[in-house]
Amino acid sequence: MDEPILIIGAGMAGLFTALALGSRGHPVTILERDPPPPEGGADAAFEGWNRRGVGHLRHSHAFLARLRSIVVERHPALHQRLMDAGCQELTFASGLSPAAAARYRPEPGDETLTVLTSRRTTLELVLRQYVTELPGVTLRSGVNVAGLAGAMKNGVFVCEGLRLDDGEVLPGLVVDAAGRSSQSFDWLAEAGVVVPEEEEDAGILYYTRHYRLLPGQGEPERGAVPGAGDLGFIKYGVFPADNGCFSITLAVPEIEEALRKAVMHPETFDALCAQMPGIARWTDPARSEPVSKVFGMGDLRSRWRDMAPGDKPLALNLFPIGDGLVRTNPLYGRGCSFAAVTGELVAQTLEAERDPTARAVAFSQTLKAELRPYYEDMRTQDRAAIRRARHALNAAYRPGFKARLVKSFTDDAIAIAIRRDPALLREFMRGFHMLEDSRAWLKRPGNAVKVLGAWATPRAMKRQWYPAKLGPERVEMLTTVGVDPQEDPRRLGFA
Ligand SMILES: Cc1cc2nc3c(=O)[nH]c(=O)nc-3n(C[C@H](O)[C@H](O)[C@H](O)COP(=O)(O)OP(=O)(O)OC[C@H]3O[C@@H](n4cnc5c(N)ncnc54)[C@H](O)[C@@H]3O)c2cc1C
Repeated sequence: MDEPILIIGAGMAGLFTALALGSRGHPVTILERDPPPPEGGADAAFEGWNRRGVGHLRHSHAFLARLRSIVVERHPALHQRLMDAGCQELTFASGLSPAAAARYRPEPGDETLTVLTSRRTTLELVLRQYVTELPGVTLRSGVNVAGLAGAMKNGVFVCEGLRLDDGEVLPGLVVDAAGRSSQSFDWLAEAGVVVPEEEEDAGILYYTRHYRLLPGQGEPERGAVPGAGDLGFIKYGVFPADNGCFSITLAVPEIEEALRKAVMHPETFDALCAQMPGIARWTDPARSEPVSKVFGMGDLRSRWRDMAPGDKPLALNLFPIGDGLVRTNPLYGRGCSFAAVTGELVAQTLEAERDPTARAVAFSQTLKAELRPYYEDMRTQDRAAIRRARHALNAAYRPGFKARLVKSFTDDAIAIAIRRDPALLREFMRGFHMLEDSRAWLKRPGNAVKVLGAWATPRAMKRQWYPAKLGPERVEMLTTVGVDPQEDPRRLGFA
């Protein structure tokens, strides 16, 4: 590979691609619109890094085992730097409930099911510093890419480089990692190329607040009530982070309008947390203090763009990646793993193929094979969650037979089976962490037998494996925190 490689954006996808290419010895130039981080380490970056290009920078992030495995296996020095900067690792065993922990027998490979956690600013800061120290990697901050250089040939856009704001033109192969509002697709449209896309609402909004443990306080022990859960009208998650920090994210269905407005108020946010035992022990004022406002984020969507429909590339020497190409609901915590996997795929494809058309086809095929099954799985779950949230608002709703059967299979079979059997949970988690197809575990005959066995077990004999109560019912919760639980059923289309 001898051509110059230009990357638009030093976010997750841009940095992971530069990591993959730079560590293999390929020269790369990253062009980033935002300024560099302030001096002073992780806290200074969290408090003062101006990253207008990444609206979700201060929302909770956790990095799945698939991302961590790329870091640990291919870049152990980077892993060490992350640990030195205070990032945490949450092991498979540490995520077990006390009852499941009593049944747990460690096995070789369990260490691969480890989550990396930190404030996103901390991971990004360390990754950025590491990547820019690789020989051959140049990062130019404060540089806005204003367009693609290239021309249409035989109905395909052949990219030759980038145009910057100040008129400078840089020649090279382009990796577009400009995030969810990447402009490449507009620039391609201006040239006459329309990239097909599927897009739909994730159905939720995200609300995050950051906290810091008080001096002398530690993180609470894992209790019977999990640190992440779904009450139907609200989802919650605790995200342990670096250097005594953690954040809480509440995800509220779009349809819960009154709650959405109220949760932006810090006092309402904390009052909601206090009602949910899985997070109340974290936000207890005797243990921690809030250190930020409530960050809200909407416009969360799933989107899949196809740069080579039917294996016919729409552009050559141009590789859109990251959120610009594929966006997913942040609830699943897969976006950065998608970015890390794609960075590796870019490097492997460019090394394996020299012909631009063969490269575009190979990249598109491997990307679809790697990521599409997870994408479809998440989209299916989003659609079901949107339906559930809608039903939760309608007191008159009575589920039909099929809906009851699906719910029973989920609650009385799958959830019970994986809660009471750490060996089965281990298999399930491999899919969750993108180490294998997310549905592969259930297709294995032995696992299916365990799930059916749990379904067949009388309720009285499995009572202890149902989840502890995550929090109050909707009306009680909303009333307690001063939100009107009434909705106009006509607006919702029920009357
Ligand atoms: C609320 C929220 C929570 C999330 N939580 C998680 C999580 O827990 N775990 C997880 O794995 N994923 C999570 N994600 C997803 C993850 O953050 C994204 O998938 C990831 O940031 C995508 O990386 P990216 O490089 O494509 O885009 P970004 O990280 O957004 O980076 C894009 C970069 O391009 C730059 N740029 C844009 N245009 C130009 C231009 N014209 N010229 C120069 N530079 C430009 C921007 O300034 C920016 O730095 C979350 C997402 C959201 C919205």
